[in-house]
Amino acid sequence: MALARIACWESYAEEETIITEGTEATRFYVIESGRVAVEMKVQFGAQAISRQATTEILDGGNYFGWSTLVPPHIYTSSVVSIEPVRVIRLDGHELRKLIDEDPYLGYRFMQVITNIISKRLIRTRNTLVHALSILSHDLKAPLVAVQSYLEVIAGGFAGDVNEEQRDMLQRSMQRIDELLGLISDILDVSRIETGRLEQEFKPMSLVEVAAKSLDDIRAAAEAKGIKLVFEHPDGRAEMVGAPGRLHQVLNNLLSNAVKFTPDAGLVTLHIADMGATWQVQVSDNGVGIPAEDLPFIFQDFFRARNVEVGGSGLGLAIAKKIVTAHNGRIWAESPCQDTGRGTRFTFTLPKDLKPYVPKTR
Ligand code: ADP
Repeated sequence: MALARIACWESYAEEETIITEGTEATRFYVIESGRVAVEMKVQFGAQAISRQATTEILDGGNYFGWSTLVPPHIYTSSVVSIEPVRVIRLDGHELRKLIDEDPYLGYRFMQVITNIISKRLIRTRNTLVHALSILSHDLKAPLVAVQSYLEVIAGGFAGDVNEEQRDMLQRSMQRIDELLGLISDILDVSRIETGRLEQEFKPMSLVEVAAKSLDDIRAAAEAKGIKLVFEHPDGRAEMVGAPGRLHQVLNNLLSNAVKFTPDAGLVTLHIADMGATWQVQVSDNGVGIPAEDLPFIFQDFFRARNVEVGGSGLGLAIAKKIVTAHNGRIWAESPCQDTGRGTRFTFTLPKDLKPYVPKTR
């Protein structure tokens, strides 16, 4: 009864925006008939153009606009009619007043909201699992097959190939390599975020892992005439951790350093014993990171505006997840304080981690 006083009926034709993401949430809606699409802006990277992605389709009996009831009262999605729609519109301010005055009504509304959110969470999780399985099997496997056919053709094993054709094949292989790299990055994010990294913890030498990463990057550095310097304490810098993952962190930091440093530059890898932790620093004297981008560089898919070269924008995000999974910290400074130029990434790793022991029943 009380709700009827603050409700009114509205109709929308096809393709009309009913609420807009990011605007003040002043109304709550119940769909009486017809269907609407819930949409969100998706943007990868700083310069990328944002796109609207449909996150779900709602029909009669469903609700939207629940941000009206939850501070800061800003709509988190847009809602667009995909066919003629009739909705019951409730004024947000009046609704909040009613809920404050009537605890039973408040309780019922909280039930509705909890229901909506838990359904969305389940749907999101299912979509994620589905998308990841598509990525790892349906997308990765054919790409690997195409890659190996291209290698066979480029190698001249399927007949003569002239210079121009070989060049085209090389470029195709390079693009496929980048795509495969992106897919593994996305799979890594999910693997690390679900806490499976600890299973890889074992005794290891940080110096050995670092030396391997330097070897991996040497050819790229030599091609640009960049000098690589390795400074480390005596001994192997023993610790417990996931060596393959720390190798991945160092490869990412070193390859970025080489990528963003002009010819004849300098890249330094420095390991220091800080007592309870090992501290690792990768410094370069390259282009640096613009100050306004610095706070965002560890975010998923972020790419600063200094870049023209390709990349997914996931490397540093993954590096941070790996270091955090080791109970360590990672940060960046640019320009480097002592030299006044370039970029320095520093991360710490505690020495007291425990090797993984599988649970026995
Ligand atoms: P990407 O795949 O784009 O390299 P990363 O997550 O590894 O993704 O890096 C994110 C962004 O941070 C890069 O696109 C670049 O703008 C900036 N960046 C990272 N390392 C450096 C560096 N050593 N010097 C300058 N900019 C860097």
